[in-house]
Amino acid sequence: MNKLLERANPGVRALEPYEPGKPIEELERELGLTGVIKLASNENPLGPSPEALRALGNLDDLSVYPDGNGYRLKSALAQRHGVDIDWITLGNGSNDILDLMSRLFLTPERAALFSQYAFAVYPIVTAAANAEARVAPAYAADHSMPLGHDLAAFAELLDDDVGLVFIAQPNNPTGTWLTPEQITAFLEQAPAQIPVLLDEAYYDYLGEQYRIEGPELIRRFPNLVVTRTFSKAYGLAALRVGYGISHPAIADLMNRVRQPFNVNSLALRAAEAALADQTHIQASVQMNREGREWWKQQLSELGLPVLPTQANFVSFDTGRSADAVFQAMLRQGVIVRSLASYAMPTYLRITVGSAGENEACLAALKTGLEETND
Ligand SMILES: *Cc1c(COP(=O)(O)O)cnc(C)c1O
Repeated sequence: MNKLLERANPGVRALEPYEPGKPIEELERELGLTGVIKLASNENPLGPSPEALRALGNLDDLSVYPDGNGYRLKSALAQRHGVDIDWITLGNGSNDILDLMSRLFLTPERAALFSQYAFAVYPIVTAAANAEARVAPAYAADHSMPLGHDLAAFAELLDDDVGLVFIAQPNNPTGTWLTPEQITAFLEQAPAQIPVLLDEAYYDYLGEQYRIEGPELIRRFPNLVVTRTFSKAYGLAALRVGYGISHPAIADLMNRVRQPFNVNSLALRAAEAALADQTHIQASVQMNREGREWWKQQLSELGLPVLPTQANFVSFDTGRSADAVFQAMLRQGVIVRSLASYAMPTYLRITVGSAGENEACLAALKTGLEETND
């Protein structure tokens, strides 16, 4: 068996698997209790639009392959973004688009460039492509955007051997963000032949003053690819659907390597209905804004430094082993996220939940902190 395993792609053999948030059912099974609260995976506490649920209603077509071209959803997205349909690539979650882009542009000779403390999927798709990861040091903890992307550091590492740049706006797990001016200045500087992927998984939670006009910017910089997802504000994480907006020539390349039916029928129709219900998005964003402010206030009262955030989570320094606090909170039936796997061993990330979830989580956090005081 060892000889066989040695022949596996070396990039894959060396990589650490993605660590998902602990499922509610798993903890309930382990503790033998019910009513576990999970604020670990940045899901929408309101769930999806009722329209999306209604759209799932008729299951008569489960024996039939989905529309492999995703025509209806792509048309709706194209209209929403003011682009032609051939600018849109659908993915099985936006992670699928990250993977497609890495398969298109990363090789053992062409490196990926991303920030320290950036989203965990970037190093995974990079390793799978046997590509080098160039990690730009993040801003220091005492910077005004602590642990955020430093695009000047990116620029220093950007040369012709870079195959793909990943920028998360805002970033997970930090919640930090860039201004549209910073992003535009970076694109002006970046060579036109190097693709830049702007990951906007948390777009709806981003303050309006920080949002870029994706399509407009792509017209100016055709090397820019923007990704979005239905997993976060749209509340459809279970169905796995996301998309890329890009120059049609890049979309055409992605279309060549994607799985023929990468987005299933239920996901296609729920996403289409969810997209049409912007009232639900506004309600979700409003609820998040209030919950986020509440968390910042509570954490600062506890004297725990919170990273600036424009997402639907707060990440903060517990000043001790985050794994220990995480475990103590698990014992109380509350699942959050330790950022030890992100080389932030004292940080916890908590998704902004409903008011009730937030209160219960705060109580568990306080107990967890008491139990881990040294
Ligand atoms: C959650 C997340 C994604 C994508 O998730 P999908 O469910 O695959 O769409 C992408 N980027 C970041 C930064 C995320 O946090």
